[in-house]
Amino acid sequence: MAYQATGQTPSGYLNPGYSISSEVGPGMSAPPLSEGPSAPTFNIDFDNVPGYEGTVAGGGGGFLPPPMPSFPNPPPPQPEPSQAQWNIPSISEDTAREALALYASSKCCYSSAPAKDGVITNMEAFNTYRYRLETFTESRSTEWSQKPYHGEPVDAFTQPIPGPWDIIAQAPTLFNDSKQVIKVPYTSSMKNCHYCMGMGRVACKHCAGAGNKVCWVCHGSGNNHGDERNCHHCNGRGRENCTPCHGQGSTECSTCHGRRQLLVNINLTVKWTNNSSDYIVEQSSGLLLENLNQVTGKELFKDAQYLVYPVMGFPDLNVVSAAERLIREHQTTYSATSRILQQRQTIELIPITKVTYKWKGKSHIYFVYGNEFKVNADNYPATCCCTIM
Ligand SMILES: [Zn+2]
Ligand SMILES: [Zn+2]
Ligand SMILES: [Zn+2]
Repeated sequence: MAYQATGQTPSGYLNPGYSISSEVGPGMSAPPLSEGPSAPTFNIDFDNVPGYEGTVAGGGGGFLPPPMPSFPNPPPPQPEPSQAQWNIPSISEDTAREALALYASSKCCYSSAPAKDGVITNMEAFNTYRYRLETFTESRSTEWSQKPYHGEPVDAFTQPIPGPWDIIAQAPTLFNDSKQVIKVPYTSSMKNCHYCMGMGRVACKHCAGAGNKVCWVCHGSGNNHGDERNCHHCNGRGRENCTPCHGQGSTECSTCHGRRQLLVNINLTVKWTNNSSDYIVEQSSGLLLENLNQVTGKELFKDAQYLVYPVMGFPDLNVVSAAERLIREHQTTYSATSRILQQRQTIELIPITKVTYKWKGKSHIYFVYGNEFKVNADNYPATCCCTIM
């Protein structure tokens, strides 16, 4: 009865990677779910093999929950990040001016005059911190695979089938998305092709299996129009050979390629995913935070281990509480659906400078941010050099 308490069905698990779209508009209807004659059925019952109960044919195989994770002992307390590194760097006026000039020249129509002739009147730092948590996970799912049978040896049940989490996959590159498909040993068998019922051929769609159809020139009369002579196209037969099946009435089965039998086995898909979340401390600079997604900052702190612990002793408490929250969220979310292999947390200091300058008697502002000195100047005063002002 234990499984009932968890809310999981005994027959398998829903794969979270496959959701049913609800975007069916009015007047449209979802395709019927009935399975036609091509729906594969398998004559070997793997429902009794632990870990393979929910395996289905085709895409979207059963998601396999990982076994209970084993948590390591907590690590010794981390050293506090060195206080000396938190001081706030600033860019020079020259750097600010060059960045704006580069920005103006990158826009095809912008005039360089404001960048060249503008006079900087104020530079204000709004440097901020970005905390990033990455959780590198492995998830596993199974599905049936089939291909035309060419006499390969089959091994279903010749030995105990290893559990899906016992199969050894390649070593992934940490924090990089990838996947591997592995044939599950001792699950391959041969079966009659379900599409052609083991015949190797199926009735031709173009002639409904007849091998010929009504002559398109004489429409079946066998005569030329208004004339007693035989139709030149069908020689008076009234019918012509079907071209797609060469008059045979059947075509090779596309599922078994005419082999009559299929080799079927369970495939295990191992998927590695880097799940990343950012937290940026909000500053009242006027620069939208999403701009910062395009730049890097100065890395102040980096820590990678199996499960990270919330950063301690950091001077900005917003970062400390965001780290606590994200670590809790990641560990709850990802350990439920996958196996956490590694976590990494980083803190970057992203420089942001708000520059005020005067051009033609008016005040304007722009932002220079990131290690890349990226510029945001939404109200650049001369956005069209073609217009004579
Ligand atoms: Zn045909
Ligand atoms: Zn004819
Ligand atoms: Zn077939």
